[in-house]
Amino acid sequence: MIIIIVGPPGSGKSTQAKRLAKKIEVPAISIGQLLRDAKKSGTEIGKEAAKYVERGELVPSKMIEALTRFRIREDDCKEGFVLDGAPRRVEEAVALDSVLEEQGRKIARVFYIEVPEKEIIKRLVKRSTLPEEKGGGRVDDNMEDIKVRIQEFRDNINPLKKYYQDKEIFEIIEGKRTRDEIQEDIRNKLRL
Ligand code: AMP
Repeated sequence: MIIIIVGPPGSGKSTQAKRLAKKIEVPAISIGQLLRDAKKSGTEIGKEAAKYVERGELVPSKMIEALTRFRIREDDCKEGFVLDGAPRRVEEAVALDSVLEEQGRKIARVFYIEVPEKEIIKRLVKRSTLPEEKGGGRVDDNMEDIKVRIQEFRDNINPLKKYYQDKEIFEIIEGKRTRDEIQEDIRNKLRL
């Protein structure tokens, strides 16, 4: 099963993706994390992407496409995967669909975790004070980058929503609830 989780920064996408992936026994893939790992290991793609990530901007679609294509072709993705935080733009969604089509696969559902902006800012500011093991320590969790990231999200979510709504695979999840409630809601919608 292939599931996509989208939402604004700080909406809890990764937490939900990891829990769901564990339940359905497929990998949870965070493009943001892949980019941070690529930077740490000093790869060219990591260094190039870091210029955007560190300003809170979206990384060019071509890079995201290449990274996603590479990752989802790996063996552990055979039975599916939960993709967290990608696609972020319609062009990325189109590219993902074409990779999946080449493989004869389709997205089962796209969950959009909706959280009001005020709440997001509160959560990200709090996250910036946490240690790395608890999700903190990110270079882009500062007020300037947070504003850019929220704006990027605002600019792109409506066309993305329409793209998936037209395919009848889009579900809105109320995100201002506990992690357990959100996960239960997602699982109920998938009849898990
Ligand atoms: P995240 O960990 O999902 O908050 O992503 C952190 C950063 O990685 C974002 O602010 C972007 O710079 C970059 N990024 C992650 N996913 C994507 C994507 N699908 N398209 C473009 N940039 C992305």
